[in-house]
Amino acid sequence: MRLSHGFVPTLKETPAEAQIASHRLMLRAGLVRQTSAGIYAWLPLGLRVLRNIERIVREEQDAVGAQELLMPTIQPAELWKESGRYEDYGKEMLRIRDRHDREMLYGPTNEEMITDLLRQSLKSYRELPQILYHIQWKFRDEVRPRFGVMRGREFLMKDAYSVDLDYAGAVVSYRKMMLAYMRTFQRLGLKAIPMVADTGPIGGDLSHEFIILAPTGESQVYYDAAFEEIDYSSGAISHESAEDLQRFFEQMTTHYAATDEKHDPNAWAEVATERRREGRGIEVGHIFYFGTKYSAPMGFKVAGPDGKPVAPEMGSYGVGVSRLVGAVIEASHDADGIIWPDSVAPFKAALLNLKRGDAACDRICEEIYGKLGGDVLYDDREDRAGVKFADADLMGHPWQVVVGPRGAAAGKVELKRRATGQREEVSIEDALARIA
Ligand code: ATP
Ligand code: MG
Repeated sequence: MRLSHGFVPTLKETPAEAQIASHRLMLRAGLVRQTSAGIYAWLPLGLRVLRNIERIVREEQDAVGAQELLMPTIQPAELWKESGRYEDYGKEMLRIRDRHDREMLYGPTNEEMITDLLRQSLKSYRELPQILYHIQWKFRDEVRPRFGVMRGREFLMKDAYSVDLDYAGAVVSYRKMMLAYMRTFQRLGLKAIPMVADTGPIGGDLSHEFIILAPTGESQVYYDAAFEEIDYSSGAISHESAEDLQRFFEQMTTHYAATDEKHDPNAWAEVATERRREGRGIEVGHIFYFGTKYSAPMGFKVAGPDGKPVAPEMGSYGVGVSRLVGAVIEASHDADGIIWPDSVAPFKAALLNLKRGDAACDRICEEIYGKLGGDVLYDDREDRAGVKFADADLMGHPWQVVVGPRGAAAGKVELKRRATGQREEVSIEDALARIA
């Protein structure tokens, strides 16, 4: 992208309405703009990040055998009357009437709709297990939308639903999803810790929230260093091996991890001092086993091994895809701006032409731009060097290639790593090789 004709409206001033770093930086770096309270337009740079996160989430869902589908945002109220949640959901649900006066709603989540789709077509236990997911916009009329995309009213969520014949099967699906989550967050460059969450009337221990560590997080968290040392990659743990999944789940649940609400000083005291880690945390995902909570009232049954109809055991698994954009920034920024992890950065590099019109600068920039193409944001604006440096730091691309007249005359460019601030004078070939 050539910045001179790119729609990247950066701001010098800090917007007054933004209370936390990610919200400020998303507005200042031109990633999003608010269109109504808690509703955002994703501008080109922000959308690239959102898509990158979405891609990693999708790849890790697919890797454990979940199947993607796409359900609509608008749902009929009848389904929610069947489950009993139409009244319970309260004011967070956006209710709509169509021209025929039918009650509709903008989906805040999809348990009812997936159960309806499944009950129409799944007839036998032989077709189970199944895990289905979609990545779709949700609407929740939050009382207090705040912190930018972290608590929006319209937000992008990945929600998966598992269907198993019995509890033993549901446990395996649950563990697969937990594994997919840990891999996802690891690839996003985040430290994530699963923490036991409330199960409500369902009971049991199959409900976990995933908290990522960021200095500005809402809750204080305490955890064992073991979580940082585990290799979640597919080589280390196979999602097709029940033993691997069990061993993985035990690792996730036996080491100490708690938010301040559930913190137990006695149990904490038993963790070796050098293994104790404390920090602030943000919830980015939640996985939940709910048994037959929807299958039973909605009449979703399959023929069991003995031919008798049984209501399948289900679970749901959410990741806040758009919240993650803010969460990654909370975990990775400094006083000058965003520091994108390589995996989600909108561009791999910013290319800064410090002197437009200088033959050598222009030639080198065009050459690099030609070779890196879609991976680089070329700052070809008629602006002062200082403005370009500040904007590049603000936008936070992992690399900066700085092309100034003195270096250019000798065929050299300056390569800066945003995360460390380290600069080096290198040849064009070396710069290209390092970025690729
Ligand atoms: P919270 O306690 O933050 O309101 P929740 O319990 O309502 O979350 P779930 O229904 O489990 O959330 O939704 C799954 C995920 O969707 C959450 O872990 C979070 O990452 C994301 N999410 C939920 N509400 C919002 C929101 N208003 N804006 C952005 N992301 C959200
Ligand atoms: Mg909520």
